[in-house]
Amino acid sequence: LRFVSHDLRSPLTLISARAQMLERSAEDPDGVRRNAQAILRSIRQMNTMISDLADSVRLEFGGALAVRPRTLDLIALLSEVIERWKETPEGDRIEVRLPDSMPPVCADPDAFERVLANLMSNALKYSPDEEKITVSAAADEVEATVSVADRGPGIPPEDAGRLFERFFRSESARKHHDGLGLGLTISRALVEAQDGRIWVETELGHGSVFSFTLPLSPSNTRS
Ligand code: ADP
Repeated sequence: LRFVSHDLRSPLTLISARAQMLERSAEDPDGVRRNAQAILRSIRQMNTMISDLADSVRLEFGGALAVRPRTLDLIALLSEVIERWKETPEGDRIEVRLPDSMPPVCADPDAFERVLANLMSNALKYSPDEEKITVSAAADEVEATVSVADRGPGIPPEDAGRLFERFFRSESARKHHDGLGLGLTISRALVEAQDGRIWVETELGHGSVFSFTLPLSPSNTRS
């Protein structure tokens, strides 16, 4: 509770500081825009935290997260999500490697975006500001795999097995970055609700690759 209330408060602290700056920057249109953008970013961050908390309670009590998978063009969906991320201040750090074509997958677009957003924001958050992250996708005959790779510090073996546990945060994550420790728990629940798998491959000092699968649309799977 101590960590959760601290992390819920930090966007609020920023919102109130920026609102005070906004009050003072009435005559400066650039200042107004910058402060308004910072406020909107913090509100989005807080919104995500509140949804994550609500979803984690739902999962804890044996509920399921609502997903409605349908046939989707993964390249179009990925490109659309990444296009939006490219417009954010960290957009330049995102590299994309997609094949020219992929068979359609069976996925829920909102759940997909939430999982990808979690993995990308972690990759950006836990790796140095000057390092790029790479989003890639591939497919075999039964499933598509989406991966997010970073050149961050990697994850110690004793932590790697616990990352998907509710509220788990490594010692160094706790020291250096805000977060509730729910993103990966919820991502796993969302991926599994779409009949996929999620995992991490990591090497200390070199970085981490988080991957998840989505089944191909039934009309495309060869039996
Ligand atoms: P949060 O980021 O809010 O702490 P997550 O559930 O998304 O919560 O991640 C849980 C923990 O997994 C993080 O606190 C961090 O210790 C570790 N982690 C996740 N992604 C990465 C990454 N790309 N590199 C290093 N550590 C990571």
